[in-house]
Amino acid sequence: MIELPEAAVLAKQINETVAGKKIKDVVAAHSPHKLVWYFGDPQGYTDLLTGKIITGTASYGGQVEISASKARILFSDGVNLRHYDKTEQAPDKHQLLLRLDDGSCLVGWVQMYGGISTFLEGANDNKYYLIARERPSPLSGAFSVAYFASLFDAGTAKLSLKAFLATEQRIPGLGNGVLQDILFNAKMHPKKKAGTLSTADRRVLFDSVKNTLSEMTAKGGRETEKDLRGEPGGYITRLSRNTVGHPCSICGTFIKKEAYLGGSIYYCAGCQRM
Ligand SMILES: [Zn+2]
Repeated sequence: MIELPEAAVLAKQINETVAGKKIKDVVAAHSPHKLVWYFGDPQGYTDLLTGKIITGTASYGGQVEISASKARILFSDGVNLRHYDKTEQAPDKHQLLLRLDDGSCLVGWVQMYGGISTFLEGANDNKYYLIARERPSPLSGAFSVAYFASLFDAGTAKLSLKAFLATEQRIPGLGNGVLQDILFNAKMHPKKKAGTLSTADRRVLFDSVKNTLSEMTAKGGRETEKDLRGEPGGYITRLSRNTVGHPCSICGTFIKKEAYLGGSIYYCAGCQRM
């Protein structure tokens, strides 16, 4: 599942690869999939996009948005996004294929669930999208110590750090994947309550959110996810399905995996404190 670092990397790669190219053909909703959300009728996407020039791409949290004149193409959650040049064979299964004027194509498809939307600028009133656009990115200066402190209140005191950081779109794009290393680097347990953090602890967590996400983005995303070329990212996760059962790189305690709040948590009982 792509999260903030991978969305930022995809947006950069799309800008480098297809910006300025014209969309020649569009195939939407080609492969039936019950868990793909479209904005409006996907059969209208051809009219919205054909002949338009791709002008830019941005990421908002874990979402990637391509601009093509006044049209927007939004990929969210579990979308796989790839670019194939004219010599390469695109996959047969997809929910959006854009053939460009240089013969290459941009293809999006969903494995488990995800959203693929095309709409005119300003028309998408989906709350999830609007919140992702509105809240400051942890990679930006607007995500400051004061802003992070403002996320803590009476209502969040009882939440575990997993729930605090990775639910309710409190920090869009910070999901259950990147969460694990953020908490490992902060030496805090995923079940630790947000209300127990001192001002100094909050600062440690703030730094870990920023530094961990910056490092993941700078290294091309996590190795558990793939980029626009289908290559794994260069950031090697410290806590993920790849390291469970292995000794912690710091203290040697074996990394544990547990089901918690509708997903797995990974942690080192030696380093991460309640
Ligand atoms: Zn450890």
